[in-house]
Amino acid sequence: MRSYVCSCENPVPPELESVGRCVKHFISSVEETCAQMHREIVLHGVDGERQAAVARYVVECTQLLARVSSNLRLTDELKRRILSSFLCLMNLRDTLDRVRSVHPVAHRPSGLPAVAGSVVAVG
Ligand SMILES: [Zn+2]
Repeated sequence: MRSYVCSCENPVPPELESVGRCVKHFISSVEETCAQMHREIVLHGVDGERQAAVARYVVECTQLLARVSSNLRLTDELKRRILSSFLCLMNLRDTLDRVRSVHPVAHRPSGLPAVAGSVVAVG
């Protein structure tokens, strides 16, 4: 992830030096990555290692976004995009938890209704 360095003209703030991106492109990358990971988890399930990696990604991005949004002056558009990125990350986290509490790898036949909320395993 660190190998992508922003080549646009926007400055990379100190908060995002670790990822080498400007605010705008960091947000885009978070949204894209969340969508990709979400698809991957829903379609293929995840093993333990991947779960940990995705969970770590969610935590890191959430912290970076929180730092950016509390330290920097942002345009209204960027504020809105940051909020929607938070939402992407929270939804990804939910997806991860749901997959973990059901069955990780089994390939179910399609056509099963995706009922949310009522399938949480107890114990
Ligand atoms: Zn950029």
